[in-house]
Amino acid sequence: MKPIHWKIEATDGKARAGTIVTRRSVIETPVFMPVGTQGAVKGIRFEWLEDELDARIILGNTYHLFLRPGVDIINRFGGLHKFTSWNRAMLTDSGGFQVFSLTDLRKLNEDGVEFRSHLDGSKKILSPEVSMEIQAALGSEIVMVFDECPPGDAGYDATKTSLELTARWAARSKARFNDVQSASFSLSPASEEQAEACTLNGKQALFGIIQGAGHLDLRRESLDRTVEIGFDGYAIGGLSVGEEKVVMYEVLDQIAHQMPNDAPRYLMGVGTPEDLVEAVNAGVDIFDCVIPTRNGRTGSAFTSRGKVNIRNAKFSTDTGPLDPNCECSVCKRYSLGYLRHLNNAGEMTAATLISHHNVAFFLSTMRKAREAILESRFPAFRKDFLSGLHENNAEGV
Ligand SMILES: [Zn+2]
Repeated sequence: MKPIHWKIEATDGKARAGTIVTRRSVIETPVFMPVGTQGAVKGIRFEWLEDELDARIILGNTYHLFLRPGVDIINRFGGLHKFTSWNRAMLTDSGGFQVFSLTDLRKLNEDGVEFRSHLDGSKKILSPEVSMEIQAALGSEIVMVFDECPPGDAGYDATKTSLELTARWAARSKARFNDVQSASFSLSPASEEQAEACTLNGKQALFGIIQGAGHLDLRRESLDRTVEIGFDGYAIGGLSVGEEKVVMYEVLDQIAHQMPNDAPRYLMGVGTPEDLVEAVNAGVDIFDCVIPTRNGRTGSAFTSRGKVNIRNAKFSTDTGPLDPNCECSVCKRYSLGYLRHLNNAGEMTAATLISHHNVAFFLSTMRKAREAILESRFPAFRKDFLSGLHENNAEGV
């Protein structure tokens, strides 16, 4: 019995439309996962994510939750779903990406990484084993292996050394994952209805991560070594970390379709709406990124006509919505002029409303891409979508 069921419903070129059945929700792909860094998607209530936006899966950050509130407290609540009240699927990252961002605060060796908490300076250790144990306690549907994330400009030799360590850590992650899963570790589905809907064993799925920066031969080597270990899904890590966009697109174009067909493909931490559609075109199924909410907090909106900077004076008397092509409740109700006023006045509602729209736009873009793949018109969708994005950008907004 598998912890998740993956099925491809249609393909159009390399693009794929599929479903991932988890014990808590059915995820239709391509899909965008809003990021719930500290157990919350910044500025957006779960009711809205469920009822209006219909997000089927969100991401939780192991690093942040490990440091605060800590595994003991989340355990007392019976896992992250019960602690947060989010009833649908969750994916947790391994904590590696955040730890490796702390360049001055960490010490790396074969075992793992020792670092100082950015909150109180206390010494902590993360390793493949510790990461698997934390993610088991969090109770996410999808667990990520613990990998090393080298900087995008690390150079060929350093990237190769790093991916070899990542491969050893992937094998250790899987071994510890299997131990933890076979122990008395059980979680109940959110409802009996859901339990009946998915004949799943209630355990977690584990995804492997392909590294290798912008070097195609290293990406292929990492892919081979990761597939050899064998996982429920596969992710591309280490992109959008400072490399040129053309390098990222080349890696996606050359590598994504070579990842196993019979498992979901996840592009970690990327990116703009354009990046998502281009990655779908290359054969990727799952995405996450903080930019819809991060940009939302600074008054920057993603729309079907490109990016809109709400601070622009020309919007002060604009009675139209952020995006006339968007069905979200913010676009149905509020004017650009009002949103601009809220943002200028420093009202937190501005951040909430623009973040809400941005997440709606990312989710609906993936739903539209899916419909296009199912109806064999993805190339036309891609062309129209990308040319639409340049409408505002061409005006220098
Ligand atoms: Zn909207």
